[in-house]
Amino acid sequence: MNYKSCHLIEHGISINVDSVQACCLSRDFDKGLLKIINKYENNTINWDEVFAIKRQQRKFQKNEDLPACEGCYNLRVDNWDDDDYISYINFDHWSQCNSNCIYCGVQANKPKTKNNVLNAIKTLIKLGKFKNNGEITFQGGEPTILKEFDDLLKLFMQQGSKIRIHSSGILFSRAIRDGLKHGLVTVVISPDSVSREVYKTVKRVDKSTKVWDNIKHYRKNLKDDLAPLVKVKYIIIPGVNDSFDEVTDFLAKLKSLDIKSVIVDVEYTYANTNANNISPHVYILMDYIQHFCNQNSMSYDLYDSALYIDRNRTFPKTENFDVQILKEDISKYSAQNISLNVKY
Ligand code: SF4
Ligand code: SF4
Repeated sequence: MNYKSCHLIEHGISINVDSVQACCLSRDFDKGLLKIINKYENNTINWDEVFAIKRQQRKFQKNEDLPACEGCYNLRVDNWDDDDYISYINFDHWSQCNSNCIYCGVQANKPKTKNNVLNAIKTLIKLGKFKNNGEITFQGGEPTILKEFDDLLKLFMQQGSKIRIHSSGILFSRAIRDGLKHGLVTVVISPDSVSREVYKTVKRVDKSTKVWDNIKHYRKNLKDDLAPLVKVKYIIIPGVNDSFDEVTDFLAKLKSLDIKSVIVDVEYTYANTNANNISPHVYILMDYIQHFCNQNSMSYDLYDSALYIDRNRTFPKTENFDVQILKEDISKYSAQNISLNVKY
């Protein structure tokens, strides 16, 4: 049936530390209806309950947007099926991490329960209610220090699923390396700087060298056609890593490592607080990175906050990439713009 919905309302779940919801992307969870299970116990997710609620969500969405989904960039009109199955799972059920990023919303906001989910996922698969035509994502916390991570990864690789892993990159994971080699895993690492000092300011750990080494090794182990599976992210943090020189060094490093895929995001609290007043220099930096990617056969993608601000942008696309002009424009506009809520 044709109607406006999104793949996560239809066939997705996001497993949080103690709850299960349709997604982790809504900016308005207070408006409700995306929650599926308020509290699950260790290794037990009641799948009958999950599908009953998802049917209600789909029914609601057929008539009008779920309140928490209004305006979401993922909504689209499509011919959605009505079957009960899950094909998108976001693992978000732990908060431990080996980094300590100034913009992190995970460590401060998540309760530190220790629910495991491996057996619950095995049950879903046994019931025949998992389809491998979507994507599995790991957010966290840091997946490589999650005890059941290797087992979960193996399980989904056996299913032939596509898996996206967000990692701090501080630990090298053989499981990730093997998944990359099989073409099933995508790893996303966000060093946000090449400079050791800026990295330390952003991450509050001194692991820059280690992270860049690990990025290099993930890439080095891959044939060229799989290179885009190693994605390196730059979160633009106004006042911290938003100069022309910082971004230029970052792009040069990617080129030297033969990285083929770049993701850009903008620090969440800045983007949220300034939703209608984003500094032009943020857009110029995004355009500059995109231009560099086009020139160097790299893919360029935007994540959540960057997608929102790009969609609402009124500042014109940059057309002149002359270094001197870029430098002047970026420093002119950036002087007054900082991320207000990050904790140094
Ligand atoms: S908030 Fe967006 S991504 Fe999440 S379920 Fe709603 S439409 Fe989908
Ligand atoms: S790597 Fe992710 S989970 Fe870890 S501190 Fe940084 S933002 Fe938080």
